[in-house]
Amino acid sequence: MNIAFALKKLHLKCNLFEGFYKFREVFFKHQFAKMGLLTEGSPLSWEETKALAEHVRQHGVEQFINLYRKLRDRTGDVLKWGDEVEYIIVKFDDDNQRATVSLRADEILPELQKKEVEDPENVKSLWRPEYGAYMIEGTPGKPYGGLLAHFNIVEANMKFRRAEASTLLKDGEVIMSITNFPRLGCPGFTTPPYVATPGKGVTMSHFFPDDGIYPGHPRFKTLTSNIRNRRGEKVAINLPIYRDTNTKIPVDNYHELEKGVARPDCVYMDAMGFGMGCCCLQLTFQACCIIEARTLYDQLAPLCPIMLALSAASPIYRGYLTDVDCRWNVISASVDDRTRQERGVEPLTHDKFRIQKSRYDSIDSYLSPEHEKYNDIPIVHDPAIYRRLREGGIDHPLALHVAHLFIRDSVSLFSEKVNQDDSNDTDHFENIQSTNWQTMRFKPPPPNSPIGWRVEFRPCEAQLTDFENAAYVCFVVLLTRVILSYRLTFVMPISKVDENMQRAQKRGACTQQRFWWRRDVRSPDADHYAEMSLDEIVNGKDGVFPGLIPLIETYLSGMDVDADTHCSVQQYLKLIQRRASGEISTMATWMRDFVTKHPQYQKDSVVTERINYDLLKTAHGIQTGNIPAPTLLGSSNISKTNEDIPKAFTKMMNRDCP
Ligand code: ADP
Ligand code: MG
Ligand code: MG
Repeated sequence: MNIAFALKKLHLKCNLFEGFYKFREVFFKHQFAKMGLLTEGSPLSWEETKALAEHVRQHGVEQFINLYRKLRDRTGDVLKWGDEVEYIIVKFDDDNQRATVSLRADEILPELQKKEVEDPENVKSLWRPEYGAYMIEGTPGKPYGGLLAHFNIVEANMKFRRAEASTLLKDGEVIMSITNFPRLGCPGFTTPPYVATPGKGVTMSHFFPDDGIYPGHPRFKTLTSNIRNRRGEKVAINLPIYRDTNTKIPVDNYHELEKGVARPDCVYMDAMGFGMGCCCLQLTFQACCIIEARTLYDQLAPLCPIMLALSAASPIYRGYLTDVDCRWNVISASVDDRTRQERGVEPLTHDKFRIQKSRYDSIDSYLSPEHEKYNDIPIVHDPAIYRRLREGGIDHPLALHVAHLFIRDSVSLFSEKVNQDDSNDTDHFENIQSTNWQTMRFKPPPPNSPIGWRVEFRPCEAQLTDFENAAYVCFVVLLTRVILSYRLTFVMPISKVDENMQRAQKRGACTQQRFWWRRDVRSPDADHYAEMSLDEIVNGKDGVFPGLIPLIETYLSGMDVDADTHCSVQQYLKLIQRRASGEISTMATWMRDFVTKHPQYQKDSVVTERINYDLLKTAHGIQTGNIPAPTLLGSSNISKTNEDIPKAFTKMMNRDCP
């Protein structure tokens, strides 16, 4: 070999390695940032962030246009999907019969993430921080795919995650997938105990100490103070109290302390932690292409209120039974950064828009061109941004969607991220996108990745047991297959979806409310709607609606499913079917019943330390399978612990790309 050639080869090799190391560095930096292990730099102050609002928006839009140009024709991706479950670390003090939240997420998370750091390709679980210092979020190590048999391993993976996290707990601590800690914000609700600092710190709350916010990443505290600063005052959450025979109105004296803000007949809360400190169950699906992603986004939107009502699990706030069953409006108000002018409390003089909803709310428009006629509520948007998107080649409904997301300011910006390469980075777009917390999220592929166009389904409340969480997840994934295979039309005027969102949160909504629903889902032009019960929507009724479960059954009957998967799926469907028919109750109703039947309950809507302790102890017993709960779960369910996929009889759920 001549020397020149050898040198050239060596040089090439070095270059290759350099490229490889560079890639590795960038990859891991990204991974660690996602894991919350690295800070993304130094958070800017609110004044600095505010001054850069236009900068972020303008570059964010350019980034979206570039990304869209590169990826709009991407096609042939297969179904992949994954769940996200959030958990609260609860600490039981059996001697004093008290339960508190344990602020140890920042001790536990680095341990939970060790395996991922060492071998990211081969882990069974991924762990991320969440808003509360007492919260953790777990997802499967890898997304599931298009095999029906994957429905048979979801629950086992959830169990694995719970067991894995449980090994790191101290005496008295447990991991619970409860939507809300019932006495969040009550005196002494944390371990170690901290006192709230009204008027001071980032939250300034009467109830929620800053120490309740996850300390391991600056994002959470930055968001908290920036949202408050942007709004110009503390966030205000007023939930109507449940009126029992001895319920005291006014509830307490906060309506005097916070005149015009706290309502006397409501449970008043004043911190982001009351909402973002709640747990939920989310799902992400990969579509074969952008058209399918837009279809799924649209068709699943009307299902959001339905699934919210079916998964209702949070009737108690700050130690009181309330008149709502769900967390949604609480989170919505807990991050509502609109100014008084934007909210319409004051005339619009210096702000740009009157905005109807919080940045955490249900979606405002459908994305597919054929569904434009159902966009019947105002879609506030920045006309200049809309024009730029149109010039950039983006069609009307998608441009409207992005221009609507972009009415919001960035509420969390890191100095290192200010200057970006708009043809390769997407951080500014993601900055706005990821702080629009809506019922559905349309997720473009990350730059230079094997991941395709995805849609996230975000309304469900976290369920107590892995069995229930698996059931809700499988039900929704199966519905996506049914929608695509039979080309079903669920879309209806967005105003009706909004109306359903409010009904879904009312006490006992699952069995007592009626919801707007399309009469004929098989013909897209028959725009007739009726108000139906969840039983009619989910289980069907002759002459009214075929029912979501019968539609799924028809889909499944055309597939050959192995016996074991079949058995799991049937149990999951049975749970949903029984919840919708009222044969068994939602977690929200179960909790209400537990409280109102507790010997210490004074018919005054108050959930005392002792009631809270007994409630959570019992719930934990149900979660571990030690206490039967036929009214919540039905009589029998086989616990799925096997994570192997049977080799035979596995059928793919993928379809040809449109
Ligand atoms: P976000 O922060 O946007 O909610 P996360 O990264 O926390 O997203 O969760 C992503 C979810 O998407 C997980 O459930 C994961 O399993 C799933 N997922 C990962 N890759 C894909 C993919 N290619 N297609 C669909 N789902 C995916
Ligand atoms: Mg997540
Ligand atoms: Mg998510």
